[in-house]
Amino acid sequence: MKQFKYISKSPQDTSLVASQLASLVQANIILVLQGDLGAGKTLFTKAFCLSLGTTEAITSPTFNLMNVYSSNKTIYHFDLYRLEDEAQLDDIGFYEYTDIEDEVVIIEWPDKFWECMPEDYILVRIDKDMEQEDYRVITIEAIGNKYAELVEELQQ
Ligand code: ADP
Ligand code: MG
Repeated sequence: MKQFKYISKSPQDTSLVASQLASLVQANIILVLQGDLGAGKTLFTKAFCLSLGTTEAITSPTFNLMNVYSSNKTIYHFDLYRLEDEAQLDDIGFYEYTDIEDEVVIIEWPDKFWECMPEDYILVRIDKDMEQEDYRVITIEAIGNKYAELVEELQQ
């Protein structure tokens, strides 16, 4: 099973899952974060990057499209919310980053650009729970084969 489902009851729970995922990162990783506004994509990113050792402030790159942080790896953090079409991905050099072998790439708001995502990545979907304000259903799935083992490790 390449999919892991987790019920988060607080921001702390979400951060915990993010750090667990980060602790399994060996070389490179591409994370794609899907979820409505306020679901917790940036919060997840923060905890993930902190666990990788970055000391820089993690902010949502909605206006500048991409932030770069250093940790033991370089982290490229994209937010595609404001982009309208695929040509703009080219303009911001998106594909140069998703082709990198040894870095960490985090992509928020893939929704308009599914066909532009790389072959292998980890999809993190965060769904709000209608009944409980702070509850989230977090689904972590390996797309492609490359990260299948990593997601299996996360389940254990
Ligand atoms: P996004 O980047 O998806 O738009 P943010 O990460 O910026 O969302 O914001 C998520 C907000 O939801 C934060 O204010 C966070 O404290 C709050 N929140 C409440 N419960 C949770 C939870 N279980 N997991 C993640 N965030 C939560
Ligand atoms: Mg965000």
